[in-house]
Amino acid sequence: MENQTVRFEDLGLSETTLAAVNKMGFATPSPIQAAFVPLALSGKDVIGQARTGSGKTAAFVLPILERVDAEKGYPQALVLTPTRELSQQIAEEASRLSLKHPLRSVCCVGGRNIRPQITDLKKGAQLVIGTPGRIIDLMQRGELDTSRLKMVVLDEADRMLDIGFRPDIERILRKCPTERQTLLLSATLPAPVARLAQKYMNDPERVDVSHIGADSQNSITQFYVPVDQDRKFRTLIRVLSQEKPQQVLVFTRTKRGAEEVYRKFSGRLPRIGFIHGDLSQNLREGVLSRFRDGRLRLLIATDVMGRGIDISGISHIVNYDVPMDCDDYVHRIGRTGRLSSTEKIGSAITFVTREEGDQLTNIEIRVNKELARYEIRDFETQRP
Ligand code: ADP
Ligand code: MG
Repeated sequence: MENQTVRFEDLGLSETTLAAVNKMGFATPSPIQAAFVPLALSGKDVIGQARTGSGKTAAFVLPILERVDAEKGYPQALVLTPTRELSQQIAEEASRLSLKHPLRSVCCVGGRNIRPQITDLKKGAQLVIGTPGRIIDLMQRGELDTSRLKMVVLDEADRMLDIGFRPDIERILRKCPTERQTLLLSATLPAPVARLAQKYMNDPERVDVSHIGADSQNSITQFYVPVDQDRKFRTLIRVLSQEKPQQVLVFTRTKRGAEEVYRKFSGRLPRIGFIHGDLSQNLREGVLSRFRDGRLRLLIATDVMGRGIDISGISHIVNYDVPMDCDDYVHRIGRTGRLSSTEKIGSAITFVTREEGDQLTNIEIRVNKELARYEIRDFETQRP
């Protein structure tokens, strides 16, 4: 590892922040943190590219803690994320890291009552984390003052653009001071993200440790299973009985697909849930928290919902439908083998129908690795 000798003490962080990092149980900075934090502390615009699960959240939260003036009661840092769940997750990590800072933060996402968010803003929150839609709503109501923001963070920028947030993001950025610091985090850096950076960032430094991702990906064993569409569910059952996963996240291409798989399970196995964007915010949060604390053992999700989920118990990813976008593949399998997980290893099993062979090849090119064929053992499957 190239950052073996780098310690959190070397990054330019204050004692207060170091104490919080210590309390989190982080032993050494991850490669993206080692490279990103000192640059961000210097006030420069920075683009950080690293695989999912590599600690990008702390990479931008730590500099925020150092650069925000807690004596001043107005928004100084704004973090934009593609999903409500991610906003929530970042807010939680920020609150754990700011244990000893008097910093106040507020999570501004849709599907939740806007009143408490407004109250927190009025009370002088300095760190605002949210999804673009709700942020714009708050700006239009005159409740969110962006005029004195020092820092703006675009987290999971690739995904935000994928799901059509570009106009919203541009609208927000145009209302932010030009002398702000802009930080952009992404697992991948496709052309649209590069163009956004070009347009709204000021001579950014680029930190790319995604090659280290290629190494870490080795901790995820990747398989494919050739399967007919109408035998997918049966195959899933066999894989589960063979793998006996601690926790498993099953990805489907569509919301309806997620519900269908869920229905097929009904009665067969306990502790199963599904999540997609049409569920109410309360339901989504309920399902996620039950998955997080282990009450659910299997969660069926669409790409948008699965994105960014950081749950240490996930030992297996099943791509019930092969992702049509290779970046989605990388993001999906990144839900296992996480930095936070006990074993840091995981398995990803991708179902591929006859018609989808080309997509399997595209994925193999993208991850620069040949996927092994998953063997379903006969003695398991012959039982009734
Ligand atoms: P990313 O945004 O790159 O997908 P996250 O920021 O969600 O990754 O981090 C993944 C997990 O790793 C989180 O649970 C986080 O608390 C943990 N983590 C972050 N930095 C470290 C570190 N230096 N050492 C150990 N665990 C860490
Ligand atoms: Mg992240």
